[in-house]
Amino acid sequence: MQSAAQTLVIIGTGGTIAGASGSATDNVGYKAGSLSVNTLVAAVPALASRSLEAEQLAQLDSKDMDHATWARLARRVQAHLERPEVRGVVITHGTDTLEETAYLLQRVLAPRKPVVLTAAMRPATAIQADGPQNLLDAVAVAESEGVSGVVAVVAGQVWSGLELRKTHSYRLDAFEAGPDAGALAVVEEGVLRRFRDWPAGEALGVARLPAGGQAWPWVEVLGSHAGADARAIEAWRVAGLQGLVLACTGNGTLHEALEAPVRALKEAGVPVWRTTRCAQGRIVGASDEPGAALSPWAARVELMLRLLAD
Ligand code: ASP
Repeated sequence: MQSAAQTLVIIGTGGTIAGASGSATDNVGYKAGSLSVNTLVAAVPALASRSLEAEQLAQLDSKDMDHATWARLARRVQAHLERPEVRGVVITHGTDTLEETAYLLQRVLAPRKPVVLTAAMRPATAIQADGPQNLLDAVAVAESEGVSGVVAVVAGQVWSGLELRKTHSYRLDAFEAGPDAGALAVVEEGVLRRFRDWPAGEALGVARLPAGGQAWPWVEVLGSHAGADARAIEAWRVAGLQGLVLACTGNGTLHEALEAPVRALKEAGVPVWRTTRCAQGRIVGASDEPGAALSPWAARVELMLRLLAD
C-alpha cells in the first residue's frame, strides 16, 4: 500500500556537498559548508516537482562535528519523523564524520521511517560535482516503499548507518561497510535494488543525549603501534578520562608498553574497549566484547551512549 505521508524534509549540516572553491578544477582546495541547503536542492531540477521542506541545521565542515550539533540534529530529526505527513528525512553532511553521525542516529532513533544521509567528495563548484546526483539518489531512497532506519547514500550505493566506513580519501565511492559487509542496496536511475535488510534495533531515545550543550562523557581513541608510549594514557587518566577505545593491531593485540597503563585505567573504573585498527574484519574470539565488530569510531560513539545511560 502506498504511504499517505508524502513530505520529505532535507536538513543541511554543511560538508563538501555544500562546498565552494574559487576554481572549478580544484577538488581539494575548497571551503566546506559554504552553500545553503536551499541552493543544493535548487541545483537539482528534478527535485522541483517533489514535496520537500529544506532546513539549515548547521553549516560545518564535518571534521569539526561536535556533540552539541549531534544532539540538536537527533532531536530535529525525531521531531520531523513524528509528523504524520513526513515520509522521511534526508541529511546533507560531510563525508569525514558521516559514519559517526549515522551510527549515533541509528542507535538513538532506530527510526521506522527512512533517515538518509548523503554527502559528496567534490565541492558543488567542481566540473563534475557528485553532490547533485547523490542528493537526487538520497531522495529516491527516502521515497522508496519499505525503507526504514538510518542509511547513507553515496555514489549510487546505500550503506547501513551501523556499518559504513569512509575508506578512501579522494575517490567518489569513498565508503565501504564493515566488518566484511556489503552495501544494503544500490540506487539506479532512481530505482532501488536491495540486497540486505534495513538497519534495525531498539531506539535508545534522544532523552539519553545531553541537552543544551552539556558535556558528553570524555572518551578517546588510542591506536596501538610500533614504538607505543604509555604517557598519553597516563596523562588522560590523571585528567579524568571516562572511557578508552583501543584501535588494536590485527586481531585485537596491544603493544606491551600499553598493557600496564591500560590495566591501571581499568582498575580506576574506566571502561576500555578493544577494536581492530584493520580496515576490515572483527576481533575473532571476542564476540562478548562490545567493540569487537565495530570500527574504533563507531565504538567510541557506542561507549559514550553506554556511559550516558549510567
Ligand atoms: N571535510 C569535508 C567534511 O567532512 C569532507 C567531505 O565532506 O567530503 O565536511
